[in-house]
Amino acid sequence: MERMKRTVTCGELGIASIGSKVILNGWVHRSRDHGGIQFINLRDRYGITQVVVDEHASDQLKAKAELLRFEYCIAVEGTVRARPDSMINTDMPTGKIEVSAERIEILSTCEVLPFMIDEASDAREDIRLKYRFLDLRTPWMQKKVALRHNVTRAVREFFSDQDFYEIETPTLIRSTPEGARDMLVPARINPGKFYALPQSPQLFKQILMVSGLDKYFQIARCYRDEDARGDRQLEFTQIDLEMSFISRDDILDVIEGMTCQVFEKTMGCVLPRPFKRFSYREAMETYGTDKPDVRFELRLSDLTETAGKSGFRAFSSVVEAGGSVKALRVPKCAHYSRKMVEDLEGAAKIYGAKGLAWMKVTGEGLDGGVAKFFTDLKDEIISTLEAGPEDLILMVADEWTTACTALGAVRNKLGTDLGLIDDKEFTFCWVIDFPLFEWNKEEEKWDPMHHMFSMPQERFIETMEENPGEVIGDLYDFVCNGYELGSGSIRIHIPDIQKKIFRIIGFSEEEAMRRFGFLLNSFKYGAPPHGGIALGLDRLVMIMAGEKTIREVIPFPKNTAGVSPMEDSPSTVEDEQLRELHLKLDLPEEG
Ligand code: ASP
Repeated sequence: MERMKRTVTCGELGIASIGSKVILNGWVHRSRDHGGIQFINLRDRYGITQVVVDEHASDQLKAKAELLRFEYCIAVEGTVRARPDSMINTDMPTGKIEVSAERIEILSTCEVLPFMIDEASDAREDIRLKYRFLDLRTPWMQKKVALRHNVTRAVREFFSDQDFYEIETPTLIRSTPEGARDMLVPARINPGKFYALPQSPQLFKQILMVSGLDKYFQIARCYRDEDARGDRQLEFTQIDLEMSFISRDDILDVIEGMTCQVFEKTMGCVLPRPFKRFSYREAMETYGTDKPDVRFELRLSDLTETAGKSGFRAFSSVVEAGGSVKALRVPKCAHYSRKMVEDLEGAAKIYGAKGLAWMKVTGEGLDGGVAKFFTDLKDEIISTLEAGPEDLILMVADEWTTACTALGAVRNKLGTDLGLIDDKEFTFCWVIDFPLFEWNKEEEKWDPMHHMFSMPQERFIETMEENPGEVIGDLYDFVCNGYELGSGSIRIHIPDIQKKIFRIIGFSEEEAMRRFGFLLNSFKYGAPPHGGIALGLDRLVMIMAGEKTIREVIPFPKNTAGVSPMEDSPSTVEDEQLRELHLKLDLPEEG
């Protein structure tokens, strides 16, 4: 028998189609018997259509309908008719019609389901990942797949319209760790040698600038062999970009333009421009993080000077040692119980704070907690914090970074606890002027804050070796709703400046040549000034979809242990495969 090829999808029939003969192909979403009448909800990517096998249908058709189970893949031929008034479903785009079946073909059957397609989101994540093919059948997963497609399409359209070229860079490259561990691939035809999967297209996109290609972008897969931690994936996707003959603001403008266009085209959402900009220092001082969630207004203040004058040794000793005292005024929260403050303290301690001091503002001054140490300083504190009665004041004293980040974590928790965050809002900002280096306490050396190809700001170039900690780089981070969406920088294109950076981070010239020689070499041949950025596509789509983990917007992610339960990877391989690669396993003893 000739296969019943669909003439329409399950999402398109309405009253205009009444009377027409159609063939639908799809999955049995629901099937129920109402006193001899069989109702089948047939589903495909485009929607759900109700199919009816009437009482007066042939015995053969009725028998076929009775065989149908959840998720059978079937074809139905029938005639579109209006639903009786009592059966109209205004929630369904096809809710005014139904298809009276004349012929049903079972294209394939389906075993007992591990979860109902409707209820997949309640299933355990590992079950969802093992049966991802079923999970992806759910309308909400299909919506996210569509969103992701629409985002990448809008990105491509935007950049193409702006004269960028989309250029593929290799995924089998020389091992050149950029900060994380490289994923290695043994090279069979070059025994003993390995390729690495790129952590990002960084070196290649810079080389493309040396090649004069001027404006590059790529939706690039990146690989980092990191321990399972937070919401990370071993492979993820970046919207990667590099431009020549530009300044920082050109990059910021392009990304703002792209983001606005993507939101408008995919969600009809007009974002206000320009996006706010904060220096790294300002972001840390005011929000206690370099990825501030500016959807809500709570701001940190500095009480170092005042606290230094107090008789509270826990604070004044920190100030004497060069540390900081940061304070957060929480309006109208003086009713907070000790237990609630302890909960907040928990958040501060995760970021290294030794404690969270508190006091309350009353009509007369300060009260409770550490207030007794600040009696003489109460006016100064109240005016610095612009505090009023019924406010709660929270404080952390520590070395500057810890004091800021610990209180920043408390701020974020309060944002959620106090319901200050509008989940439907997307608020973007830039954090600029990062330090170029950060001190690695364990190894007692300077590390690059972003990567070692980032340019110091002009005014630091001559003297940067004298005090690396003070050097500000031309680095920028793109932030949305408290998530870091991307980082980038203006790059070094002058070999002498690059050499200075290598000296500061303790990289010998030989080692630099061995690892990145191909890039450094290219810079000897007329490298243009250039810069770029990369945004995390997974994160962007996650935020747009209102999800909390990137696994929800990656069609086939690994679980938090780096395993894909569907195809059961990673897996062992045949001895023969190892032999061909000249590899022998030397595994740790089990147990
Ligand atoms: N390659 C960098 C990264 O992956 C981004 C950039 O500097 O363009 O973080």
